[in-house]
Formats: sequence, C-alpha cells, structure tokens
Amino acid sequence: MKDDQKQKAKREKETDRTNPEEEILFTSLRAQAWEEFHGQKQVKESLKITISAAKKRKESIEHILLYGPPGLGKTTLSHLIAKEMGSNIRVTSGPAIERAGDLASILTNLEKGDLLFIDEIHRLNKVVEETLYPAMEDYALDIVLGKGPSARTLRLDLAQFTIIGATTRIGLLSAPLRDRFGVVHRLNFYTPEELEGIIISASRKLSVPIDKESIEELAKRARGTPRIALKLLKRARDFVQVKGEGKITKDLVREALKLLEVDNLGLDNSDRRFVKAIIEKHGGGPVGVETIAASISEDIGTIEEVVEPYLLQIGFLKRTNRGRVATKAAYEHLGLKFIEENKNQQKLL
Ligand code: ADP
Repeated sequence: MKDDQKQKAKREKETDRTNPEEEILFTSLRAQAWEEFHGQKQVKESLKITISAAKKRKESIEHILLYGPPGLGKTTLSHLIAKEMGSNIRVTSGPAIERAGDLASILTNLEKGDLLFIDEIHRLNKVVEETLYPAMEDYALDIVLGKGPSARTLRLDLAQFTIIGATTRIGLLSAPLRDRFGVVHRLNFYTPEELEGIIISASRKLSVPIDKESIEELAKRARGTPRIALKLLKRARDFVQVKGEGKITKDLVREALKLLEVDNLGLDNSDRRFVKAIIEKHGGGPVGVETIAASISEDIGTIEEVVEPYLLQIGFLKRTNRGRVATKAAYEHLGLKFIEENKNQQKLL
C-alpha cells in the first residue's frame, strides 16, 4: 500500500468515522448532560470539581488533557465541559494546524473563558507546538516579524482560554507539552453494563425497538467502546429494517454481526489477523510490533492505537520488552492449539 493510502486506511480505522451518515448520527446521539454520559465515574467526578472550583474563582479552567483509545468519549466530554462552564468551544485537530500562523489566528480569536479542543494533539508539528507553550503558560504569543538579523519578536497578549487536548497516543506527546496540562485524565474501556446503558439511551433517542437480550449482545461485542456500540446498534437497525422486522432481536443481531465478521468477543477481522500473525507466523511471540505490522501490511500506529489496547485489556496479548506475545486465551479463542513449548517460553518472560 502506498503511504497516503496507508494513512487514509489508518485514520479510517482509528476514528471509525468511515461514513459521514454515521458521523451525523454520532453527533446527534452525543450526551447533552452529565447524566447522559455513562461510566468513567472518577473522571466525571474529578472534572466536575475542577469546573466548580474554577467557577467559584471566576477563572477559566486549567488546560485539560484527555487520553485513551478512539471512541471512548473524549470529544463528548469536552462539549460537556463547555456546557457546564457556559463557554464557547472551538474544535480543531493537531494535523489541521499546519503553521504557527494558523494557530495564531485561532488563538487571537478566542475570548475570555473560551475552550479550544485540539483532537489528536500528538500530531501537532514541532513549530506549532512550541508556539503553543507561551500561549498555554502566559496567554501570550511570540510572533517573529521579519527574517535574518533584523527579525524582531512581538509579544501578543491573548484572552484567558483553556485548551482541552485529546490523544490516543499519550506516549507520543513531548514532556514539555504534557507538563503544561494541569489536569490529565485517562479514559478507560467501558464495562458491558455501562455500554448497555449507552445502547438503551441511544435506541430511545432513535426510537428503535430493541429487546433486552439484543442490548446485552451488542454491549458484549462492542470492544468496550461506546462509538462501536452505537455503530453496531445502527447496523442492527438497518439490518432489521431491510429484513422487514419491527424490532431488534437477538437472532437478528447475531446475523447482522456475522455479516460484519464481528465475533462473540467483539473482535473484528483486523484484530484476528493481528493475533493470528503472531501465532502462525511468529510462533506466538515474542515478536516486535514492526515485524507483525509488516507481515500483515498494517500500519503500526493503527495497531498500537486501535488493535492492541483492547487485546491487552482482554488478556489476549502481553507486551514484553522482547516484543508482543499471544496468550493461551488468544489461542483458545481462535481455536488454535497452544503447545507446551509456548507455555514454557511465556513463563520465562
Ligand atoms: P472520542 O472523542 O474519544 O473518539 P467521542 O466523544 O467522539 O469519542 O464518542 C463517540 C460516540 O460515542 C459519540 O456519539 C458519543 O456520544 C458516544 N459516547 C462516548 N462516550 C459516551 C458515554 N460515556 N456515554 C454515552 N455516550 C458516549
């Protein structure tokens, strides 16, 4: 695959925003109040405290960094924070801010108390990132006028604003940038019960009749991710409509998921291909992620951001300093024989 194609495939998988119609649906289903935002109890409580303290002091809130795999609610939380603060929120992303000038024009247009949401903040380029430091710290922009020996720096004062950065790759954030966020929260995968709550609310909003068993089935197969739960719900709804049935039932859900090649643990084709490659091509590991990526022609970023976190969470994968290792549970799930030799090898890790 060519580089640009790879990048495109990576972004599509990463964000799961393959379909504009789905994107509109997700936006329409976005939680409008804290009560509609399920799970992530600690993050929610802690954010509420941060917000009410800032409100009491009549100050803008500290810069906030939210990280975790795609689809766990970082964007939704940012909008909720804005709502709670009664602030405007401007949305952009790391790759969209190409030059320091782009950043300057965004920042100079912010008013006191405004929020700036920067998605994929790990993809900011170095020059833009360095321009952001004084802006975050002192609410000032240093603009260089002219070139060469006659160049001068002009300091521009900015309104007090708050940056909410979101990233799927906290490890790629430079330390100086990370340190400028006063509040850092990691979003975790959701439990099936929490996902059930999300599916129930969404099916009500969409006026889709669905039975309890189907809700449980969808929640179980959503890889701990609200975005995937909603996507599966939508697919199930389409399937039911085509089949001419009025209600989503477990059998129809199963049929729909079979068509999507989503298995009973919610793993899709790329997850299975990844684990199979470790087992069948690399003896179960340990093997470096670059080697696996090359053997399945997959992008390393996609593997690290999207595929691996859930496999680690469900105990199918171990990360060791010698590489990735597939666990016994992964062998069993794929119906592959786990040989003793592997077991001994794994014990040494
Ligand atoms: P991220 O920014 O982390 O990729 P989003 O905020 O875009 O994720 O969430 C994806 C979809 O899932 C949105 O439609 C959102 O409304 C829904 N969603 C995410 N988290 C929750 C939650 N905790 N409760 C209800 N819906 C959620």
